[in-house]
Amino acid sequence: MKKIITRIVITLLVSTSTSLATSVVVPKTTDAAAIVWIAPRHGKKYHYNKHCWGLTRAHHHIKQISLTKAKATGYTLCRIEKR
Ligand SMILES: [Zn+2]
Repeated sequence: MKKIITRIVITLLVSTSTSLATSVVVPKTTDAAAIVWIAPRHGKKYHYNKHCWGLTRAHHHIKQISLTKAKATGYTLCRIEKR
C-alpha cells in the first residue's frame, strides 16, 4: 500500500512541476518599473547590467534608480548595452 501511495505522490509531483514549468511566463518588464544602475560621478549613462564594464570605473559609486528617474535626470542608455 505504501508503495502505491509513493508512486501516486511522485506522479503528482512530476505532473505538477511539469505544468508549472510550462505555465511560467516571464513577466515583461515595463519601462516604468525597470531599475537601472548609474554612476553619478562618471557621466550620464545608465546601465541595466550592474556588471557592465561601463560601471566598473565607478566602482563603489554606483547607484540604483528607476529607469523613469534616470531618463528624467538626463541619463541615456550606455552604448555597450544599446542594441
Ligand atoms: Zn552599460
